[in-house]
Amino acid sequence: MSAFDDLFAANAKYATKFRNSDLTGRAARGLAVVTCMDSRIDPLGLLGLKAGDAKILRNAGARVTDDVLRTLVLAVYLLGVERVLVMPHTDCGMAKVTDDDVHALTTSRGVDTRSLDFHTVPDQNAALRHDLTRIKSSPFLPPDLPVGGAIYDVRTGKLLPVAP
Ligand SMILES: [Zn+2]
Repeated sequence: MSAFDDLFAANAKYATKFRNSDLTGRAARGLAVVTCMDSRIDPLGLLGLKAGDAKILRNAGARVTDDVLRTLVLAVYLLGVERVLVMPHTDCGMAKVTDDDVHALTTSRGVDTRSLDFHTVPDQNAALRHDLTRIKSSPFLPPDLPVGGAIYDVRTGKLLPVAP
């Protein structure tokens, strides 16, 4: 018994019906989506996508970090990405705490995380605007790369576009 037995069992079933062996690593719909790790978000399902269509970049809060930028550069120049959607969501845990809150919590558990920047989100709209600007102003990405932002509502399943 391991902590992952259920997953390997599910995969054995999945592989018997696998039909995606012809897909390549290029994004067939030319899309990259930056979204949160929140377990309520089904990025492919909510956008009408399927395996092979898009690059999905996930982290806490859907933040455009240095590593997200690195990944977008690779996605654009190597893997067919021609548009980027940044998609945070309602009821995000990252919007409910500050970095100091997280440091205090981990300190109470005996762990010093002060060398980590958690990129918590005190103002979700401001953070999204900041992150969209980070992509649009990156010297490593094409200046005409379409970059969009939208907030996914975890209660309704609706995607609310934000003004550019
Ligand atoms: Zn979240």
